[in-house]
Amino acid sequence: MLGTLGRATVVRVVTVRLGEAGSAALAAGCASPEVVARYRAKVVQVDGSGCQWWTGAVSGRGHGRFWLARGRVLVAHRFAFALANGVAALAAAEVLGHRCDNPLCQRVGPGHVVTSSYVENRREWAARRDVTGSPLGEVRGSRRRARELRDLARTDPALVAADLVRLRRVFGE
Ligand SMILES: [Zn+2]
Repeated sequence: MLGTLGRATVVRVVTVRLGEAGSAALAAGCASPEVVARYRAKVVQVDGSGCQWWTGAVSGRGHGRFWLARGRVLVAHRFAFALANGVAALAAAEVLGHRCDNPLCQRVGPGHVVTSSYVENRREWAARRDVTGSPLGEVRGSRRRARELRDLARTDPALVAADLVRLRRVFGE
């Protein structure tokens, strides 16, 4: 249960640090065609969106959850980052941020999943959550919203595109 802010903060720190066993499991996963294929099967393109959308399980923070191996789950876009840049680069990154404000996004690179710092991430979040209609200030909660979008991406990508049009209007992009 992520019932309190304190608990959620602890969970976040744990997910960011890669232990030795975690690093080895992640390296093995990135090198396994079966694991990589299983990961890619859960990522879809949505018309009108530059993001790559996660369609698998979603965490309490609205992030994708990927089962790397039995009993070992990690944040999906962290797997994407390790796949693109290597496990060492992920271990060296203080935190990963979504510049597209889409917690489901798996696209690694400028404008989407980028390396960040706690301070920078917090500043970005604080600056954008107050924008009217921002997904960061969504009253339905980030998990619920992410799950709704995930379900749409699974069943009808055109509806995701419609929601993105609304968000783009809000952000003035
Ligand atoms: Zn994105």
